[in-house]
Amino acid sequence: MSKITMRAARLHERGGLFQVDEVPMPEIRDTDVIVQVKAAGVIPNLPNVIQHFAEWFPFLPLADLPAVYGLDSTGIVVAVGDRVRQDIKPGDRVYVNPGLSCGSCRACRAGDDVNCTAYTFMGYFGFGPGSVEIFKDYPYGGFGEYLTAPARNLVKLPDNVSYEAAARFGYIGTAYSGLRKANLQAGQTVMIDGGTGTLGVGATICALAMGAAKIFATGRNKEHLAQLKSIAPDRIQTLVMDGGVVDEILRQTQGFGVDVIIQCLGANAPVDSVAASIKALRRGGIHVNTGGMVLPLPVDLVDLMTRQKSILGSLWFTTAEGQAMADMAGAGVLNLDVFEHQSFPINKVDEALAALEDRNGGFTNIVVVH
Ligand SMILES: [Zn+2]
Repeated sequence: MSKITMRAARLHERGGLFQVDEVPMPEIRDTDVIVQVKAAGVIPNLPNVIQHFAEWFPFLPLADLPAVYGLDSTGIVVAVGDRVRQDIKPGDRVYVNPGLSCGSCRACRAGDDVNCTAYTFMGYFGFGPGSVEIFKDYPYGGFGEYLTAPARNLVKLPDNVSYEAAARFGYIGTAYSGLRKANLQAGQTVMIDGGTGTLGVGATICALAMGAAKIFATGRNKEHLAQLKSIAPDRIQTLVMDGGVVDEILRQTQGFGVDVIIQCLGANAPVDSVAASIKALRRGGIHVNTGGMVLPLPVDLVDLMTRQKSILGSLWFTTAEGQAMADMAGAGVLNLDVFEHQSFPINKVDEALAALEDRNGGFTNIVVVH
């Protein structure tokens, strides 16, 4: 490519504002591609990562400043490395799975990339000491015009899936992978705790796509609950979080309980409510935590043992799961029309972050576009 530099919104200091800089163009490597970014997600946790993670979670590495943030990127492949020979070519529309793995640790060699000891989110944060080196190899995020990515991290987008909608794949995929780990089957019932938030709306459309017969979705905001129910009024039952949720679910399932609970409430989730929700699970049911409540959860182990219930933790998703989502969306099975996109150019990243404060629940999808 003839371009020597590109524009990127970069953070120069914690607590500072983003600044658009001219930076050198990424260089192609053998097994990588260069993607011209079209849209990048601005997700609710990003302000925390930018401003507070260094203090709150010093064991989670961040990219050196000045840094290009931007987690969920979509765009067009403009160059492929010499050893990218199959299936990926310039002109392809893609979502870039930002989850980078080292390729050589025991988990990576087992094909279990998400459990890589150096797992690292491009444009976001890393999980292990090895992430420091991965950030040096992949210092770009979606708030720059171009980025490099391993070819193995690409999800090919059908023509009818927009760049803006696919920039939402991170939270949708987190929910999708959680429901898959819970072995949700068509015809089953699922409780989505925190159904109207960013994770919860993704969990709802995934559970519908996977054939859930009945979805019990909890939330606090009645307007958001009504909007959620309108996606599939016959299959979604909304419940206001008021302490009576478990009894109501048990009543509506004739005392049986739900097959799957996906816990989508965030860091500040109410402990009592989360602990109580497990009582809504049927014998043998699976509770998947994707929300990351900060406080410890008191668990009734006798309930788990005698009723064979499981509690799983789930993080992110595989590129294969991302591709399945893209194909389901392309086929109209996964309904991405529920999102309300708000687009900002790269010289307005700070405004995009501020807009997070005034979202229409999980329906709002804030993106930086190029
Ligand atoms: Zn690894």
